[in-house]
Amino acid sequence: MTRSRSHQCGKVRFRDHREAITPLHTAVAVRKRAVDELQPTRRREVRTYECHVCHGFHLTSMAA
Ligand SMILES: [Zn+2]
Repeated sequence: MTRSRSHQCGKVRFRDHREAITPLHTAVAVRKRAVDELQPTRRREVRTYECHVCHGFHLTSMAA
């Protein structure tokens, strides 16, 4: 059995909510600019959530 050291659940992991918020805000800004410039974007992260698998935080595109 091999287990990833930092990606127990296979997702990008942040240590806490504050750490997860930064890339979330970046995604929101990128998405906003893309909409203004009528460019397609795949950045759809809208919120953070605590993961019960790795006890870290992740970004998700799903609404609460
Ligand atoms: Zn996780």
